[in-house]
Amino acid sequence: MKFISTRGQADALGFSDAVATGLAPDGGLFLPEELPQFPAADLAAMAELDYPKLCAAFFRRFATDINDATFDRLVAKSYAGFSHPEIAPLVPLTDKLHVLELFHGPTLAFKDFALQLLGNLYEHQCEARGQTINVLGATSGDTGAAAIHGLLGKPGTAIFILYPDGRVAPLQERQMTCMQADNVYPMAIEGSFDDAQAALKEIFADQAFRIEHRLSAVNSINLARVLAQCVYYLSAWLRLPAAQRDNVEFVVPTGNFGNVLAGWMLQQMGVPIHGFKVATNQNDILHRLFTTGEYRVDRVAPSLAPSMDIQVASNFERFLYYNVDRDPGRVREIMATFKTTGVYRFENFDRDSFSASRCADAEIPGIIKRVYDNHGYVVDPHTACAFAEHDPARPSVVLATAHPAKFPDTIKRAVGISPKHDSLEILKTRPVVKHPVAAQADAIRQFIRDRAV
Ligand SMILES: *Cc1c(COP(=O)(O)O)cnc(C)c1O
Repeated sequence: MKFISTRGQADALGFSDAVATGLAPDGGLFLPEELPQFPAADLAAMAELDYPKLCAAFFRRFATDINDATFDRLVAKSYAGFSHPEIAPLVPLTDKLHVLELFHGPTLAFKDFALQLLGNLYEHQCEARGQTINVLGATSGDTGAAAIHGLLGKPGTAIFILYPDGRVAPLQERQMTCMQADNVYPMAIEGSFDDAQAALKEIFADQAFRIEHRLSAVNSINLARVLAQCVYYLSAWLRLPAAQRDNVEFVVPTGNFGNVLAGWMLQQMGVPIHGFKVATNQNDILHRLFTTGEYRVDRVAPSLAPSMDIQVASNFERFLYYNVDRDPGRVREIMATFKTTGVYRFENFDRDSFSASRCADAEIPGIIKRVYDNHGYVVDPHTACAFAEHDPARPSVVLATAHPAKFPDTIKRAVGISPKHDSLEILKTRPVVKHPVAAQADAIRQFIRDRAV
């Protein structure tokens, strides 16, 4: 299987190279040349598999340049650190309403699903090629922590994570800055997540620098992340009561469109999912897109669900590619216009598969309380956004993207209890080590140059 760029001006690469490269050299994002199909018979056979085996079976269609035994080993290692035996348990709240718990990984957020695997893929690559790799990413909170945990202490790797200083939750910051590993560099940037993301894009556009330091991107643009996220949709779909499967709507708290894109791609691979609800917080560019067809950038307003405080959704370009009938010339045109005007009008997107909801910040504590009162179940502020406009008639699976213990203040305010988790308690006793840096490509490049492996 080869992977091509959404902008059509980069060579097609095999899986390992596309993963190592991250952003395509022409500025586009990698996608499979063709989406493989999973007919009903294949799905029936997959229903028997446990999570790691399901993941390996799914990836076989894509990672054709890694031998099966090696890939099985990497997957097993990636999910061994999860604290729940089912990895992604599907918990019923009512007959028709399930929660897919994606927070049993080492950093207690869904991003561990992709980043544990990505860390092991990087390590494998370093070994196989006898090279080092420097990983660079920008985070609004959970990505950084999950990426760092994916590479913690791995020989031949260093990881540089940009995050907006003062705009990630205190425990999220601790998950990045209290890790006591000497290959980890949390960089506190003055500015918003979008400023960090803009600097990151500029650095990745600098080919010479990128090649010199064998830089790889770890943010949600990496192809391996999107594919790893497809697997938990598949797992949930296979575990639903058969009568609900074709009718199910996945409700996805999202900011960067990474999570929901993965579900939609799985649907395009022939898994009969009814649709997706794109659940945003008050930073609602995606809500506006799916209700009006207009994608228009606005300012970021910090919220109680900080991992969704994003306006420019980086995975949007992948969706766009499919929506212009996979015409890379159109993608280039649209992205160039969008860069200067900040607006794009979708003509004909897959309206049938999407609905959207928006959750104002002030609603979040009330929703947490309502879900707790109705179901005795505590949701984190991101997951709460998915409950903003629940339709009880439709079978739904809400993706629970973080463990409530990551956001104890909001939970305490909402329901009067402070959820705890051992892994977070340990961090509170360790010193914070962070590196303040200006949100400018030059300053960031210099920092990396001085410390790259
Ligand atoms: C990252 C994150 C999100 C948003 O994910 P997208 O990639 O933007 O879809 C939602 N909730 C939590 C807890 C997160 O960490």
